[in-house]
Amino acid sequence: HITDALFHHAIDQSAIAVSITDSAANILYVNQAFCAITGYSAAEVVGRNQSLLSYRSTPRAVYQELWRALTAGRPWSGRLLNRRKDGRPYVAELTVTPLAPQSGAEGGSHYLGMHWDATEEH
Ligand code: FAD
Repeated sequence: HITDALFHHAIDQSAIAVSITDSAANILYVNQAFCAITGYSAAEVVGRNQSLLSYRSTPRAVYQELWRALTAGRPWSGRLLNRRKDGRPYVAELTVTPLAPQSGAEGGSHYLGMHWDATEEH
C-alpha cells in the first residue's frame, strides 16, 4: 500500500511542475520541479497568486478561456508565456484541473496546475 508520506514524496519528485492553489489561484503548494523551472523557492511563491508567472503577453482571451473551463468544473490545457524569477520567458505547456468541487456549486474549491517548459519545441 502507499502512505501519505510516500505519495507526497512522489509528487514532490515528479518531473512535471505541480502546484495546488485555492479557488482564487493563490498558491498553497509547489513541488521541486516547479521551483527548478520557475527559479522561485517554495517559500517565495506560497501565498502568492499564480499570475506572478504571467509574462503579461498572453492574450486575455486565453486566460478567460482557462477560467471559463475551471469555473465550469472542467480541466483546461494550453500554452502560456511565463516569466521566470530572473525575468526570462518560457513557454509553459499547462494543464489545470479543478479539485474537490463544493457540493451544490460548479467549479472547484482548489485547483491543480501541472506544467513543463516547452520552449525548445516552440
Ligand atoms: P486575472 O486577474 O487572473 O484575470 C484574467 C481573467 O481570468 C479575467 O477574465 C478574470 O475574470 C478571470 N479570473 C481570474 N481569476 C478568476 C477566478 N478565481 N475565478 C473566475 N475567473 C477568474 N497563469 C499564467 O500566466 N501562468 C501559469 O503558469 C498559470 N498557472 C496556473 C495554475 C493554476 C492551478 C491556476 C488556477 C491558474 C494558473 N494561471 C497561470 C492563471 C492565473 O491565475 C491568472 O489568471 C493569469 O496569470 C492572468 O493573470 P492576470 O492578473 O493578468 O489576470
